[in-house]
Amino acid sequence: MPIPVFLTRPQYLALKDEIDGAIREVLEASNFILGKQLESFEREFGAYLGAGHAIGVGSGTEAIHLALRALGVGPGDEVLTVSHTAVATTVAISSTGATPVFVDVDPATYTMDPAQLGARLTPRTRAIVPVHLYGHPANMGPILDFARRHDLFVVEDVAQAHGAAYDRQKCGTMGHAAAFSFYPTKNLGAYGDGGAVVTNDRGVAEQLVMLRNYGWDPDPARRYYSKIKGVNSRLDEMQAAILRVKLRYLEDGNERRRALAEVYGEHLAGLEEVTLPVEQPWGHHVYHLYVIRAQDRDRLQAFLRGRNIGAQIHYPEPVHRQEAYLDLGYEPGSLPETERACREILTLPMYPELPPEDARTVARAIREFYRG
Ligand SMILES: *Cc1c(COP(=O)(O)O)cnc(C)c1O
Repeated sequence: MPIPVFLTRPQYLALKDEIDGAIREVLEASNFILGKQLESFEREFGAYLGAGHAIGVGSGTEAIHLALRALGVGPGDEVLTVSHTAVATTVAISSTGATPVFVDVDPATYTMDPAQLGARLTPRTRAIVPVHLYGHPANMGPILDFARRHDLFVVEDVAQAHGAAYDRQKCGTMGHAAAFSFYPTKNLGAYGDGGAVVTNDRGVAEQLVMLRNYGWDPDPARRYYSKIKGVNSRLDEMQAAILRVKLRYLEDGNERRRALAEVYGEHLAGLEEVTLPVEQPWGHHVYHLYVIRAQDRDRLQAFLRGRNIGAQIHYPEPVHRQEAYLDLGYEPGSLPETERACREILTLPMYPELPPEDARTVARAIREFYRG
């Protein structure tokens, strides 16, 4: 039996009655955009995080883009972020008209290294977008200190870290705003595209409500009148209804992911060719992905694939070396830890319903590769 890197179908089968019921409810109500399901999901998701406002949008990319725009970030500004991330983080920054500026990552967590921020600061720097990658929080204490000292906005990219925490504080509640993705494979995933911006700032929330809906005045009597230049980026009723069901199982899913990480940890312990993911003392890891560093990575990947074991690379080429972003002018070697990570990392199968026995099978195959 193949062991894929992730599957979304087992969760659907487990929650089928509730999900089918939620979808039917939307069809019966036949109100598909900006309705009661979205309102309820926004309230429930905000309450789960302990955040003042959640605003549903069309995708995680749009959540980052619109959060930055709501804060006034635009052309002429620079935004500090990482190159070791889904390219979506950079896409979102570029689409505001601002210039992404890459900071190298910390090799232990693969997240923004706060010690590198100073070297990339210029008079044009307006904001920082740290990414809580793979389910582990970025080192927010020093990042927030730096932002305060230099009067910068912080927009957290929480696309891979629903339920993760830094020093017991939930990711997505520490910056001026935070962006979530509900892409189907994320820890909280819809059955299509979706995203949300979360903020404690009422003014930012009000901007978002207009931005996502053509820039319309939120007053229903002022429908069809654009107050600001907006876009069309809304979380639809179907996705909101599905997410309301799935939100109730998020903590359970994250606990299962953590238990599977322990299984990998036990069965891969002592293998010197492999570096396992670590949870920092200040971090609560929700293992969106289970990423190891491996010697002879490409051959290990091919070996696992030969055994029908999904093993992928997130991400094979850092953003600053991708064709679309070569104009930013980063030379090879300019972000050494980022580039080293791309050569060494490997993502092993991880999703809440992954049978622990399959995780053991994967670990045994890895031992066999190195020990013969
Ligand atoms: C998935 C992802 C995004 C983008 O989310 P979409 O919903 O696909 O637009 C942004 N940042 C990171 C780190 C992601 O993993």
